[in-house]
Formats: sequence, C-alpha cells, structure tokens
Amino acid sequence: MNRLIGIGTDIPSIREKLPADFDTTFYPDTATFLQNIQQHHFLDELILLKGARPFAFEHIARRLEQKAHKTVLEVNLTALVHNLNVYNRLLRPGTKMLAMVKASGYGSGSAELAKLLEFHHVDYLGVAYADEGIELRQAGVNLPILVLNPDPSGFDAMYRFRLEPEVYSLPLLDELIHYAGQEKHLAIHLKLDTGMHRLGLEPLDIQIVAEKLTANPNLEVKSVFSHLSASDAPQHDAFTHRQAAAFSDMYAPIAAALGYAPLRHIVNTGGIARFPEYHFDMVRLGIGLYGVDSGGLQDQLRVVNTLKATISQIKTIEPGETVGYNRNGPVDRPSRIATISIGYADGFLRLAGNGRYSVLVQGRRAPTIGNVCMDMTMIDVTHIPVAREGDEVVILGENPTVQELATCLQTIPYEVFTNISERVKRVYWQE
Ligand SMILES: *Cc1c(COP(=O)(O)O)cnc(C)c1O
Repeated sequence: MNRLIGIGTDIPSIREKLPADFDTTFYPDTATFLQNIQQHHFLDELILLKGARPFAFEHIARRLEQKAHKTVLEVNLTALVHNLNVYNRLLRPGTKMLAMVKASGYGSGSAELAKLLEFHHVDYLGVAYADEGIELRQAGVNLPILVLNPDPSGFDAMYRFRLEPEVYSLPLLDELIHYAGQEKHLAIHLKLDTGMHRLGLEPLDIQIVAEKLTANPNLEVKSVFSHLSASDAPQHDAFTHRQAAAFSDMYAPIAAALGYAPLRHIVNTGGIARFPEYHFDMVRLGIGLYGVDSGGLQDQLRVVNTLKATISQIKTIEPGETVGYNRNGPVDRPSRIATISIGYADGFLRLAGNGRYSVLVQGRRAPTIGNVCMDMTMIDVTHIPVAREGDEVVILGENPTVQELATCLQTIPYEVFTNISERVKRVYWQE
C-alpha cells in the first residue's frame, strides 16, 4: 500500500497512526473527491475502494472504470463460486476437486481465480505449463498444482516452486528419475492413455513404470489419472465405459507395486454429472467453472464472463454507401453505423462480420456490418435510436451467450474464451 485517500469526517484521525512519509489525502465527502479527482494520477495501480453504503463509492468506481477501460472482460467471481458449488454438490463426501486454471484460467485470468478457488477449498489446481504454475506460486497460491505438460528444462523450477508434474511417458519418467537423484523427493502424477491417444502411458509401459518407481521411492505418486475423449457425448458412452475399465485395469498393478494407493481420477466437466460412478477419488473441473457445461448442467450454471466494448463513434450514411474494408454492402437505406472498440486482434474474429453476428446495445441486438477490422468493428444501430457514442456493447455474456458466438465462429466456447487476447483488460467483481 503506498497511498491512502480518505473520505469522510472521521477518517483523518487515522493519519497519526501512519508513517510520517505515507502519502495521504482527505476529503470531507465523495462529491468533493470527484470534483478533485483529476489531481490524482492513477497509473498501473491496483485500487481498493472500500466504504460504507452511504458514501456511494460506486460513483467513484464508475468514474475510474470509464478512465481505464474501453474493452473489458468482466469476470463475475460470485458466479464462478456458484458454478464450483453446482459441481461440488454432485460429489460424494471425501471426493476431491481439482480445478483447471490452464491457459490463464480459460482466458479469465489464473492468479485471481486460483486464490478464490483456494479460499473456497478446492483440493488441487491444474495448469498446462510450469510457467503458469510459477505465476500462481508468485501470487501466493499454496494449493498443490498439477502441471500437465512438464518439460525437463523446467524440472528445477517445478521442484523449487513445489509444482507436481504429470508423467506421461517412459522417457519423461527416466529424466525425472535422473533429475531427482538420490536426495530429492518429488511428487508426481501418472497419466494413462486409455483411448484418448494424446499424452499418456500405455498398457505395455505399466510393468516397467512399476519397476522403476519401486526402485526410486523418492518419487511419490500423488495420483494416477486418465482423460476421457467424449465424456459429454451419449453416442460414445460405450467407449467411455471402456476407457474407465481400462483405467482401473492399469491402475491396479501400479498401486500394488507401490504399496500405497495414489488418488485416481478420470472425469472432466462433461463427465461429472453423467458418470458419478467414475468420480473415483477426484474430479477435474474445467469449463464448467467458467459457466459452460455440455453434460446436462447448463441450466444450473451462471454466466461468469462478459466481454464488453464501447461505441467510439456513430455516423449516418446514405443508401449506396459501403462500410469498412473491401466495400461490403452497399446499404439500401439511410443507416446509423456505430464503430465499436473490439476487433479480431481482441479475439472477435472476422467470421463474426458482415451481419453473421449481432451484439447487444441498449438492450437490443445490433448486427455487424462490413468486415471486422483488427481493433474495431462496425455495427448497424439504425433500429436503436437511443444508441449513443460511449455506450457499452455486450459481445458475449448473458445475451448473446458464448455458445452463440462459438457457433458463429464455427468453434467451441473453450476456443472463444481462450482467444480473448491479453490486451483486453480483465475486471473482477463480486456481487
Ligand atoms: C483441460 C483438461 C480438463 C478439464 O476439461 P473440461 O472439459 O474443461 O472440464 C481435465 N483434464 C485434463 C487432463 C485436461 O487437459
């Protein structure tokens, strides 16, 4: 904390309790502060705004947000916790919860979410790369963290930051054994390929893995897991059952050789509701946390992410005119065209252009017109006379939904979320 702005008649008395060189400013009320807000330069700062209701600090929040954000991804943390609990309720007592926060929390921002998830007692976090795990440790996250794609060049960092690698092949196991030597104790997780055919140890590897681990007891197997290819797809349920059976068959000899029972886990979001019999000791929740489920729970989930832009300019154009690159159109009536502050570089892809998608302005949907540009998009607001420059525009959220944008972009919500580029500010809020 490097400065305090106090508002109210009593708060100045805190001054004498603070170090002499601590920067403080006081105002008698919120209105006076707002009149003087330009005297404060807020830059690259994290601001905690805290006060009793009568002070109406939401006016300050609104003013600060206007300054800072044009295009934002608002992340509703209350909704995220709600979603976590929807899945928690489906677990038997004692079944653990691993929350996937890979790819920057599916685009929502990993450190912020990880800390919240830790506060709400998830048991494990999952990331794709060691670097993502290190970022969480540096942000003060203490939960055990599983790293799905460990690289030998990162073993030392993983060890120092207490990150737990997935071991998916014999060569990787050999490298870890070599790295660990005699003295290092390493927590690892064995990934089994039961039919997904991505990463994983195969049935023929199991005997050798068991022998190597028996010879190297300083490698502690925290869990043995696999991944389902189609947990949310009824037409593949027979295959899912075969994967689960193969998993149990491969697990048994490993546990027997180790002489202890590592955690078993196989289901992701899509499988949590559909396959309670395969929860085993832990489930791995990903996209469901972020408000999307295809395993039958969608109705119970809440929207976490809302992607917003603003209207930068509105112009009226005549019939026969065209909008944007390559002169698409022309329009056949006098039209009000709004330029909004989001483009394909933000993750709003060109496939959404030329009327194939519409966004929400003043409670009504407005279609795109012309091609999506790198940083901007034009929308037709002729039918929304109340639309004004500066208005907020919802790209995805409650309406339109991420599913709708995903369909338009010929993809899935996972890809839409993780495509929202880093330059789009993430704003976290709680109800
Ligand atoms: C991403 C991932 C998950 C989570 O999948 P969702 O479908 O988002 O729930 C679980 N396990 C593994 C191994 C993953 O890579």
